[in-house]
Amino acid sequence: MNDRTTSLWQRIKKRLREELPEASFETWVGNLELANLQGGKIELTAPSGFIKRGFEERYLELTKQKIENLSGQEKEVVVKVSRKLSSERESQRDQFYSPPVSSDFSKKDQNSQIPETETSNDGQIALNKEYTFSSFVSSKSNQLATAASKAVSESPAEAYNPLFIYSKVGLGKTHLLHAIGNYLQQHDCTGKIVYTTSERFAIEMIQAIRQNKTEEFRERYRLVQAFLLDDVQFLENKEGTQEELFHTFNELYGNTKQIVLTSDRPPQEFSDLQDRLVSRFRWGLVADIQPPNFETRVAILRKKAMQKGLEIDDKVLELIATRISTNVRALEGALIKAVAHANLANGKLTLREIQDFLPEESNQEKKLTVATINKVVAGKYNVKLEDITGKSRKKEIARVRHIAIYLAREMTDNSFPALGKKFGNRDHSTVMHSHKKINRMVEETPLFYEEIKELKEEIKSNHQN
Ligand code: ADP
Ligand code: MG
Repeated sequence: MNDRTTSLWQRIKKRLREELPEASFETWVGNLELANLQGGKIELTAPSGFIKRGFEERYLELTKQKIENLSGQEKEVVVKVSRKLSSERESQRDQFYSPPVSSDFSKKDQNSQIPETETSNDGQIALNKEYTFSSFVSSKSNQLATAASKAVSESPAEAYNPLFIYSKVGLGKTHLLHAIGNYLQQHDCTGKIVYTTSERFAIEMIQAIRQNKTEEFRERYRLVQAFLLDDVQFLENKEGTQEELFHTFNELYGNTKQIVLTSDRPPQEFSDLQDRLVSRFRWGLVADIQPPNFETRVAILRKKAMQKGLEIDDKVLELIATRISTNVRALEGALIKAVAHANLANGKLTLREIQDFLPEESNQEKKLTVATINKVVAGKYNVKLEDITGKSRKKEIARVRHIAIYLAREMTDNSFPALGKKFGNRDHSTVMHSHKKINRMVEETPLFYEEIKELKEEIKSNHQN
């Protein structure tokens, strides 16, 4: 092949890039390479059969036209699957899905349950029927996210794909995801709708690998009409799960299935998420939700009160809305508390009394702190509390420190740079490294996974007391 023929393909690619939506180009055309050009025939290679078929169905004719325009000749175009690339990939996958470390452990794992959340009978997280569009108050602060959620519900995989919603905690991301799921379930019975959290996605993946059930795992997430994934920030620094999500994403996207993701920050603000995932998250629409203004807070409270069949004076709702401004979940909590107090007082509750028991915003929710985590971890491994944030390089101490950092990242919303500061002014890359190290052990060693799970429970109970 000479330079001229290579550059012909580059020019064609350039034209296609200009004409096609970015996502379509990246998925179907960007990875095709020129293998051979002889006489009237152009041979291209694709990295997988999936991409070969996708390209042929969508853009083969268009590509032929471009070739004819540019070279003045009609040519036959043949796409082959690149042997080298695809076998490399397979072997990477095999490595990744290696069987359990020891067969003893896998038995134990079969009994280990995934904790929390309500699940339906096929083990999936059930959709909360109360979280619908009609129970959601739309306002300026969530306008785009709400409109986009409705659009993807009405035209899945057509309006925006993926849809990425981000906001601080308690502002309605989970509510909107369920609303999309509920809408789809009511209006489109053809395909399966899957809602899950990325934490659970990660746990299920680890279990599937250990139990040699990766095929089932994949089918569960790839053969669906819509995939609703909550809180993707949990995937930061988890390479194995990111890899799996990447393939799931491609498969769903390529088969025009709707993907909706939520997170506590926009895609570009992740410090450890594969670039290719970040770029995919941005292919469709990214929409944020801001805290609601006063009128909206009152409207939300009114709606919640109505749903619960409560009659509450507007003055009371307004008072609550004045006190709590940044988190709708806390707003709801205060409403319930107000009702409970009113019941105790025979329904006669003065504004003054409400004022007394309503928390100030700053201490609405006792947040789990790094200090609590360090205290529990130090106690468990019998090291001094100062050592956890200190400079000692002793192996046992460093290991305990890695564990504390890992847990702090998993259980609080501190960023890596913030954690660096809290752990003895270390660089953010150092704490990231600690997190990664422990995460790998959690993924690879079943016993250690159990150990960390127990620690997490201990920390949670310590926090509540
Ligand atoms: P996030 O997932 O963003 O942390 P959630 O979706 O769990 O927040 O919302 C927390 C609570 O607040 C839920 O009970 C939800 O129904 C409620 N909520 C949040 N925003 C709204 C809204 N605009 N209208 C009605 N309820 C809302
Ligand atoms: Mg949520």
